[in-house]
Amino acid sequence: MTTCLGFAALDAHCALTPFRFQRRALRDDDIAIAIAFCGVCHSDAHQVHNDWNNTVYPCVPGHEIVGYVTDTGPKVSRFKVGDRVAVGCQVDSCLQCAPCAEHQEQLCVHGPTTTYNGKDRQTGEITYGGYAEHIVVREPFVLRMPENLDPRYAAPLLCAGITVWNPMRRYGVGKGSKVAVVGLGGLGHMAVKLATALGADVTVITTSAGKADDARALGARQVLLSSDTPGMAKAANSFEFIIDTIPRRHDVNPYLMLLGRNGVLVLVGAIEPLEPIHGGLLIRNNRSLVGSLIGGIQAIQELLDFCAEHQVLPDCEMIAMQDINSAFERLQSNDVKYRFVIDMSTLHDVASLSSKEAP
Ligand code: NAP
Ligand code: ZN
Repeated sequence: MTTCLGFAALDAHCALTPFRFQRRALRDDDIAIAIAFCGVCHSDAHQVHNDWNNTVYPCVPGHEIVGYVTDTGPKVSRFKVGDRVAVGCQVDSCLQCAPCAEHQEQLCVHGPTTTYNGKDRQTGEITYGGYAEHIVVREPFVLRMPENLDPRYAAPLLCAGITVWNPMRRYGVGKGSKVAVVGLGGLGHMAVKLATALGADVTVITTSAGKADDARALGARQVLLSSDTPGMAKAANSFEFIIDTIPRRHDVNPYLMLLGRNGVLVLVGAIEPLEPIHGGLLIRNNRSLVGSLIGGIQAIQELLDFCAEHQVLPDCEMIAMQDINSAFERLQSNDVKYRFVIDMSTLHDVASLSSKEAP
């Protein structure tokens, strides 16, 4: 066991605070990783605030992890000390069931082990995530970082990137595809960049008039304000693929209306009940409304390699670990362009501060 310093929420209402806990001793196929950067996902805020009624405290969030290998178990074969690596939203699964066999470990029928707030499959202990000095992860869930992918900008690919990439690949987004991205935040800005890199014609649908120039700079050809009723009506029946990243309950009908024949609206943001859906809108044009959960390990590797090859990099605002609470506040008030990434070297600055200990 190794003592690890991180930042944890001790309950749903308090600020994140320094927290010391133990990482497990390496099992045969484990890799120890020193964390260099960790992205701040809106899911981290949801989880810390117990929005989904399943948070176990203390909660050490963080599932967009980039770092390097510091130690390997005896059966590790693909990585060695010093290798640059990454970890996403999951650190284990059964690796036996049909989804796991089809490289969709995130859909493991026995439940994926999430990087934080999950349960270790052997001990039942709660997993702690990447707002920390280091982490221990089974080899099959560790990603190889391509040589020419800048580690400072790669972290958001591990969740924001894969969550939008996976459905784009599943539904064949490519050259000339008419794509709309709803919500220009962490996931949304990656959707614009990736769909543009795939050759799609991208429209951003936003609540924020002030993001129009950014949307175009990211690759969007059109920008539509969701409050612009005539503009939305004019865009009816025009998209093949819409990805909806709005992080809370909302009305999807105005977006469904925008789908053309056989169009697909992929919901990735809201995991609470939606406003009622109008059946007629769904039936017309053979529209589909589907969900999508992150992506499997093979797909994440494909994404990292694609982003290295095409130099598609997230727009990151680097923060110090001590700034995490104000970053959460800014995330909640829609004030981030477009992903906070914690520079984990700043944890040293808090090492001397008093910290809570794991019970
Ligand atoms: P984010 O950075 O906060 O971006 C969300 C964007 O949605 C905002 O920038 C804003 O864009 C828009 N928005 C916010 N509140 C809104 C409201 N009340 N009505 C309409 N639009 C609103 O969040 P994120 O990190 O991209 O995450 C988005 C959601 O995806 C979160 O709920 C997160 O938990 C979820 N998520 C799901 C998966 C999955 O596997 N399905 C994976 C990761 C994250 P505009 O200013 O452009 O309107
Ligand atoms: Zn996430």
